[in-house]
Amino acid sequence: MVKEELLTLLHDEEVRRKIVEIVRFGVKSPASKSARIAAMKIDLLFLLCDGDIREEILKIVQSDDKISAQSAKNPVKPKTSAKATPQTEKPKQITSTGADTDIMALRNKIRSRLTNKPAPEPSPVVEDEKVDEPSDLKFTYISEKICPICEEKTRIVQCKTRLVADTLDIDFCMHYKNFNPYLYTIWVCEKCGYAADETRFQDRYADKVRKGVRKFLSENDMRTPFVETRTAEEALAFYESAIFFNETFEMSKGRQGGLYQKMAWICRIEGDVEREKEYLLKAAELYEVSLDSERYPIGKVSDTAATYIVAVNYFMLKEYDKASYYLNQIVGNPNLRSTAPKIHEKARHIWQDIRAMKIKK
Ligand SMILES: [Zn+2]
Repeated sequence: MVKEELLTLLHDEEVRRKIVEIVRFGVKSPASKSARIAAMKIDLLFLLCDGDIREEILKIVQSDDKISAQSAKNPVKPKTSAKATPQTEKPKQITSTGADTDIMALRNKIRSRLTNKPAPEPSPVVEDEKVDEPSDLKFTYISEKICPICEEKTRIVQCKTRLVADTLDIDFCMHYKNFNPYLYTIWVCEKCGYAADETRFQDRYADKVRKGVRKFLSENDMRTPFVETRTAEEALAFYESAIFFNETFEMSKGRQGGLYQKMAWICRIEGDVEREKEYLLKAAELYEVSLDSERYPIGKVSDTAATYIVAVNYFMLKEYDKASYYLNQIVGNPNLRSTAPKIHEKARHIWQDIRAMKIKK
């Protein structure tokens, strides 16, 4: 391949995108499959998938030498290339969902919340009961996981498994002494900024979804600094980020409902009643749509559990008619007495409470 051939290839949009991907995601980003491309282009794309070549490109890009880029539509002959002016393309924004306007605000929100935060204290080696201030670091640990989107290693804050629960609410919100594990439900990749709940993060992704998210992240920098502890506000921002990714690329109302439910729990634990109600309503509405249109189970949630959540949320929101409607679906189904005995019994109790209230009136 002579220099001019290489330059022509370097002006090719797909080749350029591939190089951006390497720079953005490093050596390990996988090959993209492209149809109907010239043989030479295949060669180059193939070479760009090679670890050594990628490393070399990264070295070039990270070096101090300034390389000017040229427009793909207006290739300049090698002799005059020195005069070419650097060209920066504006990243395309996603417009189909209106996410283009929200994403900047969301990104800035997460960023500013995290960057203004002082660095966390180093993790105590000894788990001493005498530590005065309760710190989440006693209840968490850091692990390394492979991001499902960029496939790079990222640090993840996980909760220790032997947490002793204090109380359990009717909607399954668990309370613990001095610790709120729901702050750490969302896993965030420190390399590319992708965020999803723990279960989703470790699940399989359709190629279309992975490609879509990756393309989006290559055009919108969503990365935030890694933090070991999260405040409620920071955690809520990560939930918003996870909901954004779901809404934009997967559109699973059931999963979104589950995320809003946990946002409600965070607000409950924080004592923010108004916001809790707002999120409970969102969760109920999303699950209602989901139950009519989506296949269950979704993650670990069965359709019975989702029906129960809708019922119990409306119950807590004092919308008793709506609550009764969904409770009837559980109480009135004799099969559930054996297949989902706990939910069936809980639903029966709430249903009886509502009936008692109606009789009193
Ligand atoms: Zn990632």
